[in-house]
Amino acid sequence: MTVRRFQDHRWEEVERLAYKEEGDHSKAITRQILFGEELGLQSQLRYFEIAPGGYSTLERHQHAHGVMILRGSGEVLLDHRVVAVAHRDMVSIPPMSWHQFRATRGEPLGFLCLVNRDRDRPQLPTPEELDELRRDATVRRFIRA
Ligand code: MN
Repeated sequence: MTVRRFQDHRWEEVERLAYKEEGDHSKAITRQILFGEELGLQSQLRYFEIAPGGYSTLERHQHAHGVMILRGSGEVLLDHRVVAVAHRDMVSIPPMSWHQFRATRGEPLGFLCLVNRDRDRPQLPTPEELDELRRDATVRRFIRA
């Protein structure tokens, strides 16, 4: 058994990584892989933290996400809805749902994200799909792509 202590939204011996290799906004997000391969799990539990004003990639994919907000608050796009979320809320993101997290409330948005270890790569919206998403005024104002 290993206990890794939590302090200041980091865990002992867990490396804090960049969110993704590409994209300017990625600098506003950090990623920590908490559980996964080393335990023989078929899933991974990660912790992402978005700095105030930052946002995750607008994307969709075949794999699902189970998300629990752990720090702060913000908003999430889930298909054609924009929903306010705050710490300890659960967000279920089914396969092929467009999603984007934004730290819109002047504080960080930190969340646990449960995902299959073997998973497909995220798809970005085509120009046509972006047009379709932007038909809704609330969604149009929210999304960053
Ligand atoms: Mn995703």
